[in-house]
Amino acid sequence: MLTSLAGKSVVVTGASKGIGKGIARVFARQGAKVLIVARHAGQAEATAKELGAGASAFAADVTKPEELDAAAEAAAERNGGIDVLCANAGIFPQVKIEEMPPEQWDLVLATNLKGTFLSVKACLPYLKKSEAGRVILTSSITGPITGFPGWTHYGASKAGQLGFLRTAAIELARYGITVNAVMPGNIITEGLEGLGADYLKTMAASIPLKRLGTVEDIGYAALFLASKEAAYITGQTIVVDGGQILPESLEALNA
Ligand code: NAP
Repeated sequence: MLTSLAGKSVVVTGASKGIGKGIARVFARQGAKVLIVARHAGQAEATAKELGAGASAFAADVTKPEELDAAAEAAAERNGGIDVLCANAGIFPQVKIEEMPPEQWDLVLATNLKGTFLSVKACLPYLKKSEAGRVILTSSITGPITGFPGWTHYGASKAGQLGFLRTAAIELARYGITVNAVMPGNIITEGLEGLGADYLKTMAASIPLKRLGTVEDIGYAALFLASKEAAYITGQTIVVDGGQILPESLEALNA
């Protein structure tokens, strides 16, 4: 049993739906006070309402430093500081190199990678004041470990997050803040469903546990990294993928 996170102030970016919502729900169930950050206010507010009295919403775009500063300030004012940042917001448009407009490369890197840096920077003044500050990034298996056509920009951004985390973990250790990442495999979210039924079906077949992950599967890994019991873990990653990266071949998968 992990020590309760009741009363802790948690900021989750990209929390109006998908994995971020799952993370926010797991923390809210523990009695944490959660700030739901996303660009579209209506969806963020609906999610906060669904999660209950401990959750509230703030509309901010992770590519915009001034909006993130305002979100961090709101979390501190409403919830008495910031103890945990889950930097989760991300996009994954699928376009092969030959067709990819350079602007799309820039947008994916600006959201997934620079947005991670900006989210950490905005929350840092408050995390430093926490007794046990925690930063948890949502990376991916795609990029750091695997590849998938159409996701050169996405894979670069997700691998880049891990480069960021290793130095951030050293820089922030002096404040007692740990920095770790979850690396999801294929998790059923609104964003993933947008890739189509064929994608979901063939992907589930390639996973040893024979199912896609749930958003709570990621939420519980984040909860562990935020716990008191994980205080001595920093600069590390947890793959949560149903074994997807393990088989060397189709034969290995189906033997
Ligand atoms: P999703 O269902 O599309 O949800 C994305 C969330 O991020 C929404 O709340 C969205 O709300 C928000 N968002 C997007 N751009 C934003 C921005 N510029 N500023 C603030 N919020 C923004 O996506 P998901 O599948 O849950 O993915 C979430 C994270 O998990 C991403 O980092 C993704 O790379 C990672 N991941 C997902 C999978 C998977 O299988 N689903 C696997 C590995 C990693 P608004 O549109 O209102 O801003």
